[in-house]
Amino acid sequence: MRPLTVLAASALVFTHLLANPQCYVDAYPTLVASADKEEIVLKNGLKLPYKTSMPKVSWDEKINHADLEMQLSQSYDAGGFDTPPPYLFDPGRLRYQPFFQALYGKDKQSIEKNLVSISWPTLKGSTKLPVTKVGGVDKTLYAIGQEIAKLPKSDRIWAEGATTYCYRVIKDTDRLSMHSFGIAIDLAPMKTQYWKDEAPSETAHIGYRNTMPLSIVRIFEKHGWIWGGRWYHYDTMHFEYRPELLTPSCIAKDHE
Ligand SMILES: [Zn+2]
Repeated sequence: MRPLTVLAASALVFTHLLANPQCYVDAYPTLVASADKEEIVLKNGLKLPYKTSMPKVSWDEKINHADLEMQLSQSYDAGGFDTPPPYLFDPGRLRYQPFFQALYGKDKQSIEKNLVSISWPTLKGSTKLPVTKVGGVDKTLYAIGQEIAKLPKSDRIWAEGATTYCYRVIKDTDRLSMHSFGIAIDLAPMKTQYWKDEAPSETAHIGYRNTMPLSIVRIFEKHGWIWGGRWYHYDTMHFEYRPELLTPSCIAKDHE
């Protein structure tokens, strides 16, 4: 009986390490029709594989070849600020680009057809920001702005200088930035911290730095937006709409 017991125990641990494909349906109820370990089917009829056969061993391969399964492999912890993210722990940064193209638009022209303008509060009034209307993302960002407007001025200054849509690749890569899909926002660009300003490569050992207040971060996370300050490769001005990392059914029990 002994070997069987060991097998059962390790199988249990394994399932806890892998997130459930169903979490994509729960996170994007108006966009994703079904999902299993084979494929994900969108309500617009597009189908995507849940796993791809590209190698994903080295960090370079993970970041360049992530699939929908790997996209959930590092669980996002919407907690406090107590510990800096561990080495190469970037929940949300491992992305399967075809998924975002299937949801928000396959190219610049089709993405821009989905953009609408929302009002974003500033200390002197408000400004307009382009954001996608797909899946109600625009409504979540508008709601975030309204909540930030109620914070004290000492916190609100961190939501100044906001920029959203820009069709571009991530610096020094050929991967599209989430800003390209109209689902990301940068705040306080002159006062925040970016890992690339300190590190020569993805696998370099870098020190964590942040000045973005938790009050702003928590408002975003409440509405399905993750924060780049929870990444080892910190990008503390950056937030993006990634409800699959914040929906309860999507949160893996253990870190990989
Ligand atoms: Zn950004």
